[in-house]
Amino acid sequence: MQTFTLLSRQRNQMIEITDQVRECLAGTGNRDGTVFVYCPHTTAAITINEAYDPAVVHDMLLWLQRAVPHKQEGFRHDEGNSDAHIKASLVGSSVTVLVEKGELMLGRWQGLFFCEFDGPRQRTFQVQWLPA
Ligand code: ZN
Repeated sequence: MQTFTLLSRQRNQMIEITDQVRECLAGTGNRDGTVFVYCPHTTAAITINEAYDPAVVHDMLLWLQRAVPHKQEGFRHDEGNSDAHIKASLVGSSVTVLVEKGELMLGRWQGLFFCEFDGPRQRTFQVQWLPA
């Protein structure tokens, strides 16, 4: 398993991590299998979506912020980041990608993203290669 560190720069930000996940496959000998990508944080997430047009990431973050505003009447969590916890669960904490002959089987426009919802801060994510 490999652990990667990244620095988010905004409170809500999607950071592409496709290249780091590909790095993990360098020593796999072009084998088939799967790669598991995990986010060990309660206010961040991992997803797969379009990595070609940056407007897609912009629009996803805009929608999430409108769907789950930062401050809402009735929230009890002392840290004041309940919106980030909710967004993290909506998006999810992991993805699995099929690997064929050492290559990620992503669609043409797909990329992997680390989703920050309570930045800026230092974060980690983990990648586990699972041979078939
Ligand atoms: Zn919290």
